[in-house]
Amino acid sequence: MVGHCTQIEKMVHRKGSYKKIVFPATCALIKHPTQGYFLFDTGYSRYVLEDAPFLYELTTPIVFNEKDSLVNQLKMLGVTPEEIKAIIISHFHADHIGGLRDFPNAKFICSKEAFDSIQQLKGIKALLAAFIPTLLPADFSKRVQIIESNELLGDESLVVIDLPGHAPGQIGLMIEQRVLLAADACWTSSAYKKYLLPHPLSRLIIHDYDALKKRC
Ligand SMILES: [Zn+2]
Repeated sequence: MVGHCTQIEKMVHRKGSYKKIVFPATCALIKHPTQGYFLFDTGYSRYVLEDAPFLYELTTPIVFNEKDSLVNQLKMLGVTPEEIKAIIISHFHADHIGGLRDFPNAKFICSKEAFDSIQQLKGIKALLAAFIPTLLPADFSKRVQIIESNELLGDESLVVIDLPGHAPGQIGLMIEQRVLLAADACWTSSAYKKYLLPHPLSRLIIHDYDALKKRC
């Protein structure tokens, strides 16, 4: 987890309370035996707070301490930013791409639909889509790699799964056919175990509620 924000429980479940619950900004480090280190998302970073402080103070208050930055957490595992070969981006919300600028050698892997969705997104339009353009490194377009095959490495170790609904072109990642990293495609374990849909109010922040409903 690299930082978190809070939101009322009712946003997650129709029958939830009005108490605030924590939404961790999760990400994952994947070590491939021959191809090196990959990340799935990056969580928050100081750049999010610096570049759009007002947005998150008004909507979803963020808790983030620099000591918990992804770079610092990786350092504790003995991994340098330069060693990260690629970052698989589930979707372009700020709590998933906050740390992209910290990884100078990484390629950025995302779906075409997600990539297309952020083109021309600027100013208030971008903020309404929870996207902060300045979180992308200046050379993002040279380093981006659009997904052409769901099987990323040719050995079935990392397989991309389409997870439509929450954000345009959102993807999950199946690791060795055992673990599915799903990001915001599902907010709680009880939601997928009991097929609980988010509160209709969450339509305000969900890109395609009907696609999400269909997936459930
Ligand atoms: Zn999101």
